[in-house]
Amino acid sequence: MNFSFYSASIQERLEKLQYKIEKASRKSGRNPKDITLVAVTKGFGPEVIETLLQMGIVHIGENRVQEARLKKEQIGEKGIWHFIGHLQKNKIKLTSHLFDWIDSVDDLEDATLLSRFAQNMGKTLKILVQVNVSGESTKFGTTPDLAESLCLAINALPRLEILGLMTIAPASPDPEKVRPVFSRLRMLRDKIESQSGIPLPVLSMGMSQDFEVAIEEGATMIRIGHFLLGPRKESFLKSGETKTFL
Ligand SMILES: *Cc1c(COP(=O)(O)O)cnc(C)c1O
Repeated sequence: MNFSFYSASIQERLEKLQYKIEKASRKSGRNPKDITLVAVTKGFGPEVIETLLQMGIVHIGENRVQEARLKKEQIGEKGIWHFIGHLQKNKIKLTSHLFDWIDSVDDLEDATLLSRFAQNMGKTLKILVQVNVSGESTKFGTTPDLAESLCLAINALPRLEILGLMTIAPASPDPEKVRPVFSRLRMLRDKIESQSGIPLPVLSMGMSQDFEVAIEEGATMIRIGHFLLGPRKESFLKSGETKTFL
């Protein structure tokens, strides 16, 4: 990456991102308006989220519950918050309280708890099922084989609105290598939709490294961290080295 990655403003990065989203959409005959940008703000402070909200970016992605809680305390009830991390049973109550979307559900027990807490709070949670398409042992997510039964079970739970699938592709310097992961998620979605009759309009796939390929393969939601925000700290609470993504 060139020097501008370190010095550019969020506004400049956003313009570059929007240009690339439009280009990838045009290339694949899609409308860029059909692609929702989730800004992944892990490692950044609440002031960055305020800046994004002022710029009209309302979808905020966080992967740690406590970190999100501290930021939301400062920001208040603004934005649409997506939980994109691994669910932990002892934090599910707080997770269901803080977030509007849970984009990483891969377990029926977790979903049952989310449903119960959502009922208690009188709120409806939007749900994506995370699928481990690549089969990497380091990745969370249900297997493609079990995804349909999980979608059906979630669909039957009160106060959960299942909307689609999510995947994290393996990290690769060559996004073409991960194209099959995205096309397989799309095909799996099509199959589950037609067999179960549950509408699954959302495909959350593509990050800074691979969002263009993901859009070409049908992503309707992309989760972008460092391409939009620059290098991040491991935690926004800790000072020290930033991750540089070279
Ligand atoms: C961190 C993270 C992202 C964004 O990563 P970048 O490579 O910085 O764009 C997207 N999705 C998930 C699940 C993440 O944890």
